[in-house]
This record gives sequence, C-alpha cells and structure tokens, in this order.
Amino acid sequence: MLDPTYSGYVKDGVYILATILFIYALHEMSNPATARKGVLWAGAGMFLAVLVTAIFSGASPDAFVPGINISQGQLEENLGLMAIAIAIGGGLAYLWAIRVKMTDMPQMVAIYNGMGGGAAAGIAALALIARTDTVGYLGLAVVGGLIGSVSFAGSLIAFLKLQGWMRQKPITFPGQQAINIIVLLAAIVFGAVTLLNDSGHVGAIGTSVAIPFVGINTALLLFFVLGLGYGFMMAIPIGGADMPVVISLFNAFTGMAVALDGFATSNYAMIVAGMLVGSAGSLLTLLMAKAMNRSISNVLFSAFGATEETGVEMKGSMKPIEAADVAALLAYAGKVIIAPGYGMAVAQAQHKVKEMMDVLEKKDVVVKFAIHPVAGRMPGHMNVLLAEAGVPYDHLYDRDEINQEFASADVAMVIGANDVVNPAARRQGSPLFGMPILDVDAAKNVIVLKRGQGKGFAGVENDLFYKDNTRMLYGDAQETVAKLVQELKKL
Ligand code: NDP
Repeated sequence: MLDPTYSGYVKDGVYILATILFIYALHEMSNPATARKGVLWAGAGMFLAVLVTAIFSGASPDAFVPGINISQGQLEENLGLMAIAIAIGGGLAYLWAIRVKMTDMPQMVAIYNGMGGGAAAGIAALALIARTDTVGYLGLAVVGGLIGSVSFAGSLIAFLKLQGWMRQKPITFPGQQAINIIVLLAAIVFGAVTLLNDSGHVGAIGTSVAIPFVGINTALLLFFVLGLGYGFMMAIPIGGADMPVVISLFNAFTGMAVALDGFATSNYAMIVAGMLVGSAGSLLTLLMAKAMNRSISNVLFSAFGATEETGVEMKGSMKPIEAADVAALLAYAGKVIIAPGYGMAVAQAQHKVKEMMDVLEKKDVVVKFAIHPVAGRMPGHMNVLLAEAGVPYDHLYDRDEINQEFASADVAMVIGANDVVNPAARRQGSPLFGMPILDVDAAKNVIVLKRGQGKGFAGVENDLFYKDNTRMLYGDAQETVAKLVQELKKL
C-alpha cells in the first residue's frame, strides 16, 4: 500500500499538471491552426487525472468520493469494472468519432455532453446516498445533481432532435412555462427534503430515514426524476436549429455540475475541469446568442422557428444564371469574396470550393472567404470545413474584417448561405431584425448557389435573391462548384 502522505502529494501534483494542460489546451483551441493539438493536450490532461484518481483512490483516506464505506478490496474490484466500462465506452466513442460526418457533429457533441451531465448526476447521487459529508457539501451535491440531470435529459432531447429521431420543430402547448416552473420547483423541494432530513448522518448505502409522506430514498429518487423531467421539458419547446446554442448552454451546465461535485467530493481536478467547461460553455453560449442578435431567454422560451414569416411581398424576381456565365464572371474578376453557409456543409462542397479557389488564384483573382460566426449549425462550422479542405487560414475573414470589402468586390459568391446574408435583418419586424449579417449585397455582382426556393433556418424570405445585382445558380453546391471548376479550366 502506498504511503498516504506521499500519495496525496503525487495526486495533487498530477492534478495541478492536468490543470495546466487543460488551460493550455483551451488556449490552443482558440486558433484553428492549433485546435487539434489543443484537443490532444486536453485529452492527455484528462487521462492523467483519471489515472491518478484510480491509482491513489484507495491509498489516501480523502480520495475519491469521501466517506463512501468501501473497503480496499471492494475498491480494487470496482477499479476492474471501471476499466471495463472505460474500455467499452472509450472504444465505442472512438469508433463513432472517426466515422461521424461533419454535419452530424452537433448531435455527437450533444450526446457526449449529456453523458457528462449524467455522470455528474450519478456522482452527486452517490454522495447523497452515502450522506457522510457536512450539510454544506451535500448541498453542493444536490445542486450539482439537479444541474447534471437537467443537462443529461436536455442533451438527449437535443441529440434526438438533431438526429431527426424526434420532431425538430418546437413542441409547445398552453401552460407549458407554468408546468416547467412547477416541475423545477418540485425538484428543488425534494432536493431540499433529501438534504435537510438526517443531514450529517453517517450511514451505509441504502440508509432509510423516516420523513413525512416519503422515505429519504424515495425523496432522492423523486428529486432526480423531476430533475430529468425538467431537462426534458426545457428542451422540447426549442427548435432543432437552435439546438447548438442550447447544447452549448447544457455544456456549461455540465461543467458547473462537475465542479460542484468536485467540491462535494474534494476532487480538485473535477473542480478545475468543471469550472473551465462551465465558463467556456457560458461564454460560447453568449457569443452565439450575440451573433444571432438574440437573448438566451429568446432562444430558450420563444419557440423560434415554430412559424415562418408570412405576408412579406418581395419586389422583383429571382434571376437564374448558367455555370458557364458565372465562370466567365469569376475568371475576369479582380476580387471574389465567398460567403459559405449551412448548404456548403450539407453538400460537402468544401473540397471543390478549395479547387475553385486554386484555379482562380492561378488566374490572379484575389479570393477571400467571409465567415459569419453562426454560419452553418455549430460555432466554427465553416472554419473547420474549409480548414479540412486545405483553405489557408489567412484567406478566412471574420464578418467585422470583411464587411467593408464587399463594396470593392467584383463578385460575392454565396454558397449555401441564407440567413447570414439576408438583408431582411435590416428590416424592422423581421424575425431576423438586428442580426449582424455579411453585407454581400454591396458587391458589384452577387451569385447565390442553392438548390431551389428553400428558406434559411429562420424561415424568412431573403430580399437578397430578388436584387438587381443578384443571380441564382441552382443545384447541389458540390455539383455546381465542380461544374464551375470545369468551366473555369476551359477559359
Ligand atoms: P441557412 O440555414 O440559413 O440556409 C442554408 C441554405 O442552404 C438554405 O437556404 C438551402 O436552400 C441551402 N442548401 C441546403 N442544402 C444545400 C445543398 N446541398 N446545396 C446548396 N445549397 C443548399 O444557413 P446559414 O449558414 O446562412 O445560416 C445559419 C443559420 O443557423 C442562422 O440562422 C443561424 O442563426 C442558425 N444557427 C447557427 C448556429 C451556429 O452555431 N452556426 C447555431 C444555431 C443556429 P435550398 O434548400 O434552396 O438549397
């Protein structure tokens, strides 16, 4: 058996190392060029933290979930089971991750995040069942358990909606908000009942203490069931396309739940990792909401996307154009700015777009990419796709950097984007009103690549398509860009 003092030092030392790795990883993830390395560093930090917790959990009296009365022998038995669970879970996650399509990433993130929330709720349940800590620490476990269960259930709904296994449109009914509040309040009441009855009592797993109406174990069970119920109810009125914002919010919840569990179980690595996830998730949620010019409460409670905008008359008509004509326009342009969107991701057109960029650059055309922060369906969606196709990072420009350049562009080429280039955002009364957009309509010529008359995610008619300087090039974006490349090579 290892020396407890020595093991304590080693464990805390490794936790500090893991913390440094997590922070460094976040720093690396903030730039697309180093993001992959960042993910690996974070993985290394997590591996070290899990390893050292497993190795030293039996050796130090304050390790793992404090006070759970399990012997060294039981612990070693459990370590074996944990290793099997990690191997099965890790193996399945690996296989899924290497096969997942880029467009399916949001739902994968949703389910992994949900698992994190579920694990945090499980740890809180364990701490509450053992009930060997002080009331303050158990209080943290109650809050962590509630947030973790909400995140677990909500993330599962997000997964089902994004996967198309559940109605994507918001599910609403009269009195919904009131019912949600009642479910949440009931969960809080049962959490308090669990906490206040017999707090500080040292007992074995399964201890049951008589309280009015329900036993403590029933109260605990109801607490978690209601927490899960609230997560479910909170997520169903949110439309599928708003889900990435909600996933980011649930991600922040999971982080908070893990940090609270870390306090309740005196595990510093969990506190730090949880807080980092919680704060990064909160910041990302706020940034996404800001880029859509919507408040978090609007995303959560407005059932955005339940109805489409009606009664807006467009002036003019959509004017189609042929690939050969677009190729000629591009070949003789001085500057072309490409504005990609969700349709490029659906069509997986990024490789063809890179090929087109290469052909144009050989013809001395300046090619730039205008990246809207919420183009696509997840933060950084366009950056990831274009980086995967080999488009250099210095060709990608944020909305603020590129907007004033559209006026000097000969061609603005919109590839599968709709809402993020919709001038309706400037029209009061439009659901998009106030959303900062890419000002593609300021370019001399605007070419829009899309399949047909489909609206964007917000369901709002796009004024851009009817403008005098806009031409529509219909078809699947990958096939269309391939045609353009062929035509360009002939010129
Ligand atoms: P939109 O969803 O507004 O529009 C996508 C367009 O792509 C559609 O008009 C569609 O038209 C076209 N399209 C679809 N498939 C293809 C294809 N195979 N080939 C060519 N075109 C295709 O996309 P944007 O990127 O402009 O906007 C993103 C929206 O998602 C914003 O409203 C944003 O707020 C929202 N959102 C984004 C999040 C993020 O993190 N990025 C998170 C949550 C929401 P057609 O059917 O006619 O082809």
